[in-house]
Amino acid sequence: MKIAVIGSGYVGLVAGACFADSGTNVLCVDADEHKLERLRRGDIPFFEPLLAELVKRNSPHRLDFTSDVAKAIQGREVVFVAVGTPPSEDGSADVSQVLAVAEQVATAATHDLLLVIKSTVPLGTHARVTELVNRLSKHRISVVSNPEFLKEGDAVNDFFKPDRVVIGTDDDRAFQLLSKLYSPYARQRSKIQHISPKSAEIVQYASNALLALRISFMNEIAQLCDAAGADVEEVRLAVGSDERIGSRFLYPGLGFGGSCFPKDLRALVRTGAELGVNMGLAASAVRANEERVGALLQHMEQDLGGLGGKQIAVWGIAFKPRTDDVREAPAIRLIQELVTRGATVCATDPQALESGRERLRVVGVEQHVTFATAEYAACEGADALVIATDWNEYRNPDFHRVRELMRGRHVFDGRNVVVPEAAVEAGLIYRGVGRPQRGT
Ligand code: NAD
Repeated sequence: MKIAVIGSGYVGLVAGACFADSGTNVLCVDADEHKLERLRRGDIPFFEPLLAELVKRNSPHRLDFTSDVAKAIQGREVVFVAVGTPPSEDGSADVSQVLAVAEQVATAATHDLLLVIKSTVPLGTHARVTELVNRLSKHRISVVSNPEFLKEGDAVNDFFKPDRVVIGTDDDRAFQLLSKLYSPYARQRSKIQHISPKSAEIVQYASNALLALRISFMNEIAQLCDAAGADVEEVRLAVGSDERIGSRFLYPGLGFGGSCFPKDLRALVRTGAELGVNMGLAASAVRANEERVGALLQHMEQDLGGLGGKQIAVWGIAFKPRTDDVREAPAIRLIQELVTRGATVCATDPQALESGRERLRVVGVEQHVTFATAEYAACEGADALVIATDWNEYRNPDFHRVRELMRGRHVFDGRNVVVPEAAVEAGLIYRGVGRPQRGT
């Protein structure tokens, strides 16, 4: 089968490379020529484990790149749309990129095809796109809603081994064709779920909101533990042992970030409002999440006697490990706030140094931040260390070395990833999220 994928970001490039690796001929499209130039050289513009290998193995014979939509869709049976849907001012998802691509495809189409929406789009977008392509093209363009559930940092594995493939369409032929395309990754047919386009549009938001709610709920419990002098890690383990609840997505910390949870929750609240439905739980999850960085800063102010003039080492800038994505990363908000309160920061991250520096430049605090390529160097002369992202390499650090390098002794573990006793044994004062302070 020959397909095209429009939008070669985290989602589109992973989907394109994975389809190609299973034998499908894929043409990836992007509007960003600079990105395409890098891709043609096998240079992946962002960090995603395993992706570089896949792109190298499949291009150019099965995976190629272009900026020309009209050329890209020639002879292609299936065209995926994986462009961005960033948040608008009012919290709703901005679908203008999706509509622009649909218009380009409809105008350029010279044969019938499937237009598959992989971008996360609000309820009603399938209908809008269908109306648009029907109006602009004399060919039969069947629009399908096919939400993507991959997780950055493990996207390739997620694509190859999905929990489910959701195909939202009322067109049986479209369903058969997409089932065939996805068959290498869904050898148990029960993984492929054929539902209506409207339901498919809700699935993505409902899934992300539920996961985010679990995190926000545990963060609220962490706050309770903090106030009561209990240990949220003990609570988490016991609560998660209940089979009905399960242990995943129960980790308290600095809050969720990234390009999906915050934006999708706000968009869900907005869609609810448009339809007269109060999405109060989703709204609370966002609100609770926004308080996380403030809660940590309050502890820091208290324990350090104010932040003015303090030097703070920050381990981790990415919104989560195994990615260089800093979109809505709690670490960025934290660094901004530290600087606003008069501190200077030395930040490090195994993959997000460049993207982090750029983001901090955009928010106007880059000049108060230095960057270290390794975690120990970031600690030199620091009054405190904050672990802001739960990268594996931060889980078991040499705290004696950290103690020697730092001026102060405070470690704030924003992800509860280290063993507190190891920090205390090295003479440090440890404070996690929702855990009693240890060390004196
Ligand atoms: P991204 O910003 O990494 O990639 C989008 C790409 O689309 C960019 O490279 C951009 O240059 C390109 N683009 C924009 N307009 C274009 C046009 N007219 N023609 C061709 N290319 C164009 O975004 P992403 O993270 O891959 O997300 C894409 C969509 O998938 C979003 O709707 C997002 O919510 C959703 N999603 C993302 C994830 C994730 O983890 N990143 C997971 C599931 C769903």
